[in-house]
Amino acid sequence: MVAELQGIGMTSRRTRMRLIHRLREEGIQDERVLAVMAELPRHIFLDEALAHRAYEDTSLPIGYSQTLSQPYIVARMTEILMEHQPTRVLELGTGSGYQTAILARLTDRVFSVERIKPLQDRARERLRQLGLRNALLKHADGGMGWPDKGPFDGIMLTAAPKEIPAELKSQLADGGVIVAPVGEQSQTLVKLVRRGDSYEATSIEAVNFVPLLGGVVR
Ligand code: SAH
Repeated sequence: MVAELQGIGMTSRRTRMRLIHRLREEGIQDERVLAVMAELPRHIFLDEALAHRAYEDTSLPIGYSQTLSQPYIVARMTEILMEHQPTRVLELGTGSGYQTAILARLTDRVFSVERIKPLQDRARERLRQLGLRNALLKHADGGMGWPDKGPFDGIMLTAAPKEIPAELKSQLADGGVIVAPVGEQSQTLVKLVRRGDSYEATSIEAVNFVPLLGGVVR
């Protein structure tokens, strides 16, 4: 098992660069995002049995019926968020912590909420291993945002609500951006920019995320 993990460590840099090449081909252009994804190990965010698939451009299960998103969509959402140069970001749906780690490398402070405690515990351990101390995690139903830490200049949802909750919009700073999958049977990636009291929505592309659920799991 140790040899197998060492094997992953040795080959991961090469397979990671192959993934970055593919992300470029798929249209990802933000060099900051590509650089962070080239350097961050995705395999440590997965169970050992799936670690060898970490650099395929595919979503993978992380337990509790949840998934680590496909690298392309992680890159795309991060790129859209980064257009607005956010320094203080709220993430809903910590999951494995992979997206949280990327945001922590690119921004000053990340506040990430997860409703399933065991997933949060594992994510916390991985972020600690990576030395990412600027990500603060909370176990809660994130639908209400994180009012006492707002306003945020970027908010990212990695689980899909039927529509973007009003509470989240109210925690968005002027000029800030929300990036979220929205919808039930069919979902669209939406970018919402705040301009004073109005919000400009842009549809980006069709996506397929787990739903944003209420309540918490201990
Ligand atoms: N960004 C994650 C994706 C995880 S999947 C990653 O990179 O691994 C989406 C996550 O959203 C799941 O872990 C799920 O438990 C969480 N989630 C769903 N509804 C939620 C809610 N209301 N509040 C907080 N987290 C929620």
